[in-house]
Amino acid sequence: MAKIFCVANQKGGVGKTTTCVNLAAALQESGQRTLLIDLDPQGNATMGSGVDKRTLKGGIYPLLVGLAQLDAVRMRSPSGGYDILPANRELAGAEVELVGLERRERRLRDALQAFDAEYDFVLVDCPPSLSLLTLNGLCAAHGVIIPMQCEYFALEGLSDLVNTIKKVHAGLNRDLKIIGLLRVMYDPRMTLQQQVSAQLESHFGDKVFRAIVPRNVRLAEAPSHGMPGVVFDRNAKGAQAYMAFAEEMIERVKKL
Ligand code: ADP
Ligand code: MG
Repeated sequence: MAKIFCVANQKGGVGKTTTCVNLAAALQESGQRTLLIDLDPQGNATMGSGVDKRTLKGGIYPLLVGLAQLDAVRMRSPSGGYDILPANRELAGAEVELVGLERRERRLRDALQAFDAEYDFVLVDCPPSLSLLTLNGLCAAHGVIIPMQCEYFALEGLSDLVNTIKKVHAGLNRDLKIIGLLRVMYDPRMTLQQQVSAQLESHFGDKVFRAIVPRNVRLAEAPSHGMPGVVFDRNAKGAQAYMAFAEEMIERVKKL
């Protein structure tokens, strides 16, 4: 049975897409059958997986509105080797259309059901909002991975997300839990980051992943080549951290 994880944080630019693309590539390389779902109309996970969003026909939009099945719209990432359900700007329209549809929060969950046996991991790259699209991700998932920067305001933003996750758990998806917090773009030379990191550990205990992703320019360069960082330069510190994170996820899943 596939384990489905949302990578979510309502803030933009915190490393959701980078985490999705690199975790997907590292999991696939470790022999885990992986599907990456791009649920953000910006299509960054799509481009970063080597699929051109500008020439895309289909993708996740027709799937959500009930016009296509997964096997008709998924693709293989040419650089990452995992399957991808790509997105582009059209997806912003789905948001409006979904409002009028039946089971509007459960469209993604329903669409994945028949393909459950084909994957070990499904990762959902959420948009930077707590919108109906994100809600579809949360309803389909077993857990949430929250990437965050160790900054002063990081904890403040976290409480909104945690409240949303609690509401979804109570009303829509009893399976949903927070799998963990992933520290990303970490700079160990900054005292404030060390302090916030230590604060996270004392508040959240083993909900904080052991792997820490450093700020690393190779991770930022990789998307312009249509490649996950772990493929673009596997020896870079950032790539190594995501590979360690993938191993940690494989271990955690055994305990779920
Ligand atoms: P989100 O999906 O949350 O908006 P992204 O993953 O797109 O965030 O990251 C925002 C920007 O930061 C991108 O330009 C990305 O390349 C860069 N970035 C992400 N993680 C790192 C990192 N560990 N080191 C350096 N740059 C990073
Ligand atoms: Mg993103």
